[in-house]
Amino acid sequence: MRQLIRNFLILLVVFLIIAGVLSSFTSPFEKRQTVGIGELVKKIEQGEVKKITVEGDTVNADLANGETVTAKKEPVESMSELLKNYGVDPALMRGLSLEVQERSGIAFWISAIAPFLLPFILISLFIWIMMRQVQGANQRAMSFGESRAREMQAGDKRQQVTFKDVAGAREAKQELQEVVEFLRTPKKFTELGAKIPKGVLLVGPPGVGKTLLARAIAGEASVPFFHISGSEFVEMFVGVGASRVRDLFRRAKKSAPCIVFIDELDAVGRQRGAGLGGSHDEREQTLNQILVEMDGFEPNAGIVVVAATNRPDVLDFALLRPGRFDRRVMIELPDIRDRHEILDIHSKGKPLTADVNLRKVAERTPGFSGADIANMFNEAAILAARRNKKKISQEEMFQSIEKVMLGPERKSHILSDEEKHITAYHEAGHAVVAHQLPHSDPVHKVSIISRGQAGGYTLKLPEEDRHLKSYSEFLDELAVLLAGFMVEKEVFGEVTTGATSDLKRATKLARQMVTEYGMSEALGPRTFGEHEELIFLGREITEQRDYSEKVAEAIDKEVSKFIHQASVTAHAVIGKSRSKLEEIASTLLEKETLEREAFDAIMGPRPARAKAKT
Ligand code: ADP
Ligand code: MG
Ligand code: ZN
Repeated sequence: MRQLIRNFLILLVVFLIIAGVLSSFTSPFEKRQTVGIGELVKKIEQGEVKKITVEGDTVNADLANGETVTAKKEPVESMSELLKNYGVDPALMRGLSLEVQERSGIAFWISAIAPFLLPFILISLFIWIMMRQVQGANQRAMSFGESRAREMQAGDKRQQVTFKDVAGAREAKQELQEVVEFLRTPKKFTELGAKIPKGVLLVGPPGVGKTLLARAIAGEASVPFFHISGSEFVEMFVGVGASRVRDLFRRAKKSAPCIVFIDELDAVGRQRGAGLGGSHDEREQTLNQILVEMDGFEPNAGIVVVAATNRPDVLDFALLRPGRFDRRVMIELPDIRDRHEILDIHSKGKPLTADVNLRKVAERTPGFSGADIANMFNEAAILAARRNKKKISQEEMFQSIEKVMLGPERKSHILSDEEKHITAYHEAGHAVVAHQLPHSDPVHKVSIISRGQAGGYTLKLPEEDRHLKSYSEFLDELAVLLAGFMVEKEVFGEVTTGATSDLKRATKLARQMVTEYGMSEALGPRTFGEHEELIFLGREITEQRDYSEKVAEAIDKEVSKFIHQASVTAHAVIGKSRSKLEEIASTLLEKETLEREAFDAIMGPRPARAKAKT
């Protein structure tokens, strides 16, 4: 509708312009004095007229005094006849120079035809514009099925990412380097009869650099690179996904050798027939089309499909069978060395003060993904800028780590004095128990400034990256989780809702120990329950019971036992360290935050870990 109005306005303007031009043709620019024929004849008789020019029915007379006058005559009557009829003396007429001028061609024709032609022109213009618009809409509808893949050509200057910009992920890089090598020198491989995989699937948690790695391949391979995200296949309209897949592969085949990168493959590659709701049919068709296309090109056709996902568990099995994404590359969360490398990469272009020790920062960021680290570094830079500093210091880095880990400080969240009191004891409880139990991670910071969801927090960090966790560590962790609750009970005689999330986490952990890790003596080394998910929510909502009611009861009992045991441990530790607890709590009330050094100074050395039994 708005388009229509716009077009109408455009037409109006065009019309006005044409009208303006025409009117300038018909009405002469110089203003002339118009007189009647009778007066003109009088002027002729008086000898004032030097020359007469007749143009159609217009008579222009140049006067002796330099002026020009215009008169109209009847079209059919010639000028000489007219003068004769007026009885002008023929002798006078002879002395007069009379010139008959044809009207100038264009002006004549335009003024003759324009009145008829103009409406036609305008109407056809209007129709033409309308037609074009309808056609445009059609074309847009047709282009719906085109893939939205972004194509990057080899040597594109904007594509600056190379393998050097990706830290860690060594196995993944090696695997992909092979692919790159194949695309560069396919002969080397085909001569030996080797087939290069059609598909490489990058698997790893969010933010570990899967997309980054794929972009690095594009930068290294020096072949065209098609980049599309799984979600871009699926649109509101049925059939679009499949046709986009077809289009993508058609383009890819044209520019082979090349790499096709499908990000977030799980958006289309979920197990077929598992979804509820309307969109799964569409997804199935899209997935089928991907499968068909991947079967459709020869192994050495020079197209390598790279895909990334953080949910390999939900992918359709057909995608994973050989001949499709037969190579799977795991990318794990970075370990301390990788984190250090990532920090090095991201420190480029950021001025740091001399006291910054990136190794220390890496130590403090266990469990961070590459994206978390990038985010943290950025936060640190913003913080430094807000403080009007020219360089980023260690202090800002540490603060941003906590911000990324626990959410921003909520300074505005003012606790009443009583709440502060309770929170101080609660957090002191966690911290003291964590310090005294040898298998717990050491305390790095205690604070009663609320952050994100937490009222206060106790920050514990492992001394080194760990991949395995032991039974004793879980027991101590449970005790630390319950310590806040136990202290509240002990010191104030009753508990508050402040311990809710602690209890939730403790219960979940205890349950996992029993049902997943086989750590319950009574139930033995087996797992209980098959965790299924309903795909369309992507969340675990059903648990398939593969055990009897009786076992369920036993599990509950074991969970409670673990929790009870933990509360006893916490209680004992608190009893033994009551004076330290008071000291920590009062320091917290005064300073709100205790760093590791100050905390350790109050607490003294930690008990040594018992050597693991061999
Ligand atoms: P994913 O696709 O695995 O979810 P991304 O590749 O999008 O993660 O990573 C997000 C950002 O995190 C990257 O742009 C980069 O800045 C940073 N990053 C992640 N992993 C690494 C890494 N290994 N080395 C360097 N930077 C990384
Ligand atoms: Mg990604
Ligand atoms: Zn707590």
